[in-house]
Formats: sequence, structure tokens, C-alpha cells
Amino acid sequence: IEHLDVAAIREEYPILQREFGGEQLVYLDNAATTQTPDRVVDTIADYYRHTNANVHRGLHQLSQEASVAYEDAHDRVADFIGASGGREEIVFTKNTTESENLVAYAWGLNELGPEDEVVLTEMEHHASLVTWQQICKKTGATCRYIEVQDDGTLDMDHAHELIGDDTAMVSVVHVSNTLGTVNPVSELADIAHDHDAYIFVDGAQSVPNRPVDVEAIDADFLAFSGHKMAGPTGIGVLYGKKHILEEMEPYLFGGMMINKVTFEDSTWHELPWKFEAGTPVICQGIALAEACDYLDDIGMDAIRRHENELAQYAIEQLEGEGDIDILGPPAGVERGGLVSFNLNSVHAHDLSSILNDSAVAIRAGDHCTQPLHDKLGVPASARASFYVYNTKEEVDKLVEAIDDARQLFA
Ligand code: PMP
Repeated sequence: IEHLDVAAIREEYPILQREFGGEQLVYLDNAATTQTPDRVVDTIADYYRHTNANVHRGLHQLSQEASVAYEDAHDRVADFIGASGGREEIVFTKNTTESENLVAYAWGLNELGPEDEVVLTEMEHHASLVTWQQICKKTGATCRYIEVQDDGTLDMDHAHELIGDDTAMVSVVHVSNTLGTVNPVSELADIAHDHDAYIFVDGAQSVPNRPVDVEAIDADFLAFSGHKMAGPTGIGVLYGKKHILEEMEPYLFGGMMINKVTFEDSTWHELPWKFEAGTPVICQGIALAEACDYLDDIGMDAIRRHENELAQYAIEQLEGEGDIDILGPPAGVERGGLVSFNLNSVHAHDLSSILNDSAVAIRAGDHCTQPLHDKLGVPASARASFYVYNTKEEVDKLVEAIDDARQLFA
């Protein structure tokens, strides 16, 4: 794979040199959380060593520096996803889940009623599925689910059937964290907009791994998490079109998000601050901006190709013995950098603990998509997921470790 200089990239990640039981770590749990390169760790340390102060309200020099860095970080993130409105369209949250909840509460709770429908897909992560399900329960609205076909793709005929004049919101995962499927979000946005509905794109597995341009997709909202894109935990992003965010009521109330407060009433600060109540995620925001620089320096399209090649290589290797079921699109179809699978009759949890003996770190479980696993008729699956620093040799180690498991359970 010659898209990336992986050897050079790996030097920025001391954690990848760790050994467990004499075996060097093979970290293949990147869809859960990616590792953090030195330059992002340095940004965090530098911030606390030299710039740390509360933002927005301080008149002193340190606070002004922290404020400028924090506010500029919103512009950097806007640029990373092609949001031409800049900082006004970028709200910093805790994670993708909080971004989903922000829209569900601030918009959904106020706008949805018994006559409305929210259209999701059967491959939604619980972050969107549970959130809209519960908001629908509170408002009397109905959740509907676009079916997933046997090849792991969405049934677009069904999408056309479901999305209609009663649809108020379409919430879709861009790249499935379980199947790896890349969904046609731009086409879904067109269908939603034809029916005056909004589209919310869950970009948790797309923004870190491929070029994403919110305006090319025409997403009304898009959410993602810093910890899946070489950034820190504790920060997520909600992108929203400016005119929609302007009309939305705040989700959290308190300091920083207000303009004028009296004993009787309050008015709200300008975007995006009206959605960032209290002391915000200052250091995390600044570090996320550094992660955006880092990823753009490598090149998002090179990252996409690298991950897709590793995923395709993994599928080829895993399918070899004929006793492994791969979830999601078949070999050869472009997918996100992850492969979920089941080894004949070996529970995914047992498999992952055997792989752990070889220091191969994968995920096992339902990956926060229980209804999808129910539909597929499997209780769980094992998932290997890749990032910029992974290599074909690491995929080979995964395959060898699975072979050990095969012997053990034979
Ligand atoms: N959506 C998808 C597709 C995800 O993969 C994840 C993380 N597993 C989330 C949402 C939730 O992200 P977070 O836990 O950072 O809120």
C-alpha cells in the first residue's frame, strides 16, 4: 500500500510500541477510538503549560489568548468539513451522542408531533436510534426504518417509499460502524429535501476516515467525535446549517450561552455559543483543530484509500478458510476501514479474548447496533477496524491469531 508513509506515521505513536506478554500491540479497534499522535498530545500539554484560562469573559491576556485559540478552532473544524459559514455552524459538544441529543431535544422536542415521522435506517448506531426512538415516544411521532438488504446496503426503493410528506427528519449513518457500508447520504438528502424534511448525518465513522463535505452532501446536520480522528476524548462536533441553528432553541441553559439576563427572562448569545452552555471543552477543541491539521497534512483521500485497501485485504484473507462470515458488503465493494465477522460457532467474545493473548486488539459485541444484529440473526460479531498507522502485516497477525483460535476450538 503506497498511499501513506506508514512507517513515518507510526513514529508519532509511542503507544503502538507497547508490548503485552512479549507481543507487540496490534491495535485494530480504531472504530471505537483512534490513537493520538505526538503533535496532538503536545498541543494538549502546551495548552495546559502555557495558555490555560477560561474563555470568552476574561479581560486578561491569558484568557484572551485561550479565547482566540478556542474560537478559531471552530473555524478550523468548519473548514475541515467544508462548512462555509465558519464557526457559526460548528457547535462543540462532548461526543457524537451529545450532538444527536442536542438536535433531538432542541429541535425534535419542540417541532415533532403525532402526525410526524422520523426516518432512520436499520443500521443506525444506538446514538441516533435510541435518541430518536425516545424523542418520538415523548412527542407521539413515529420512527420508521429503511431496510438493510442482504448485501449490507440500504434498500433505496424502501427509502423512497418511507420518506414522504409526513417525514420531518431523516437520520442516517454515513458509514456503518458494524457493516462498513458507505451510505448514499447525498441522495438521501435530496429525497428528504424533496419532502421538506431535514437530514441528520451521523459522521462518526466517515469524517475521520474519508473526505466529507457537508455542503456537497447538503446535510442539514452532521455529527462526529474527536476521539475517532486522532483527537482527544471529551469533544464532539455538531454541524448545523446556520439558518436552522438560528431558529433552534438552546438545549442547555446557563452561563456563556446568554446575552441579557433579568429575574424574569433571558436572551441568547450568538451562534454557536448559544449551544455551548458553561465552561466549554477548551483544550479539547484546540486539540481537535490540531488533529484536523494533522489529517489534512496526510490527506483525507489517501486515508480513505489506505483504509479501504486494508479492509479489502482483510476480507480476502479472512474468507480464505471458508468458516468466517463477513458482515456487510462483499469483497470489492468500497467500504469504511472496518470488517465485522463471525468465526463459525465461536462466540465473538471468546475470539477476541484469544486474540488478546497475541496482543491483537479488536472489538467484540453488538457495536451499539443491537437491532441490526437481531435482524442478522447473530448475537454479536468481532470487528477489526483500521486507521492511518495500520499495516498489511498487522492484518496478517490478525489472521494468524484467528488461526490459533481455530485450532483451539477445533
Ligand atoms: N455513531 C457511530 C456510527 C459510531 O460508530 C459511534 C461510536 N461507536 C457513535 C455514533 C457514538 O460516538 P460517541 O461514543 O463518541 O458519542
